[in-house]
Amino acid sequence: MVGFWGMFTYLDPTVRERLLAQGKLVRVDTNGRATGASEPLLAGEKAMSILGPIPLPIERSGRKFAVDWYASVRHTELSKVEELAEELRKRDGQQSFAILASSMAVNSVLILGDSASWSNPLVRVHSSCVTGDVFGSARCECGPQFIAALERIGDDSAGGMIVYMSGHEGRGIGLWAKAATYVLQDAGEDTYQANRTLGLPDDSRDFSDAAVLLKYFLRDRPFRLLTNNPKKIADLENYGVRHITPVKHVTGVSDANRRYLAAKRDWGHKLDVEDLERK
Ligand SMILES: [Zn+2]
Repeated sequence: MVGFWGMFTYLDPTVRERLLAQGKLVRVDTNGRATGASEPLLAGEKAMSILGPIPLPIERSGRKFAVDWYASVRHTELSKVEELAEELRKRDGQQSFAILASSMAVNSVLILGDSASWSNPLVRVHSSCVTGDVFGSARCECGPQFIAALERIGDDSAGGMIVYMSGHEGRGIGLWAKAATYVLQDAGEDTYQANRTLGLPDDSRDFSDAAVLLKYFLRDRPFRLLTNNPKKIADLENYGVRHITPVKHVTGVSDANRRYLAAKRDWGHKLDVEDLERK
């Protein structure tokens, strides 16, 4: 039993101490500053736990990338999970634990190059998309955008990072609602109409966690952001991220997603007619 639960660091204080001693676990405040990870949080205090670096050799499209992976989670979510997990442990609720852990939105940071010596690095904040990133669906351009970001950052002499937002599925509405919007789209609605038909916001992505991670890893240095979305820049700036130079990121345009991209453009994304004609 001890061995099984020992797998979950948030249940075993001794493992937590070991991670802290190795400098692999840090807690950062909303300004991206590291704070004492072993002290209890004040009531209402917002923080994020970051675990890493973890070397992650990535192979995509026949190329290899040496990446350092960091996992991050909001401290409030983590403490809720810890509390419930403690209850489950008392009741030997192994089955329930999987459900519990899966509800925790763990974001990832992929670092390419040496972050300490970065000068104007290239950065992508990527919203998770199971259908595009994992299945390779061409209904959106997320999969090619992710791989192109990895390649562009890997090829850039300045290096950089990808912040992968796991809770951003379907622009924040979740995978279930995204499936429903696809059905509506196939009945003739565009992506934004479909959201409205379902009574969902056009874009409910929350970039506050991404902002904290950018502040922590970039330390207020200027950086280039791979995006066509002015709203993403405005949101990050609202959360205190500074010195952003946008860099256009168009890739993966196909017949299957041209209509989706046109809807994005009408909604404010910086895409030109030529961008949508690319193959
Ligand atoms: Zn997608």
